[in-house]
Amino acid sequence: MATAGNQIKNAKLVLLGDAGTGKSSLVLRFVKGQFVEFQESTIGAAFFSKTLAVNDETVKFEIWDTAGQERYHSLAPMYYRGAAAAVIVYDITNSATFIRAKKWVQELQAQGNPSTIMALAGNKADLLESRQVSAEATQTYAQENGLFFMETSAKTAINVNDIFYEIGMLWTLVC
Ligand code: GDP
Repeated sequence: MATAGNQIKNAKLVLLGDAGTGKSSLVLRFVKGQFVEFQESTIGAAFFSKTLAVNDETVKFEIWDTAGQERYHSLAPMYYRGAAAAVIVYDITNSATFIRAKKWVQELQAQGNPSTIMALAGNKADLLESRQVSAEATQTYAQENGLFFMETSAKTAINVNDIFYEIGMLWTLVC
């Protein structure tokens, strides 16, 4: 909560990544602390907001949850241009979604704003027995590309608040 004299720092944040990787579930977990097994597909994009206390600051996230389907791809720049942060989500049990995540990284590096904080979320980290994408290889890739990386689970809540909190911390340092 904001305290007197404490300025609220707005942070526009966009989630990108294949359909089915858990973008909407991550937002629902972060904003409402809930998880639903059969999340309806997002059409176009959906907007949420959540305020977080980060050290002595208050960060108000304005979150755009985009649809992962290719037919909505042309809308994406509208959301990532001018974003404080982009969270690129893949599913650790599906290597094709990681390849797609790397394409998003390339697109943002080429066409996005260089000051946008980029985070990579390897979601469904509760499904370790079905893992297809190694955490170590992703960490190396993230370091090489200046990305912040965490494995998350919208289902069990592992690292969900943490990834948003870390982004909030980075944002308070640069804005
Ligand atoms: P989106 O299309 O990227 O927004 O993905 P959704 O949030 O709609 O999630 C797609 C499916 O994956 C849904 O059935 C979710 O319940 C499921 N899901 C999302 N996150 C997780 C997770 O962390 N663990 C597991 N086991 N399932 C998840």
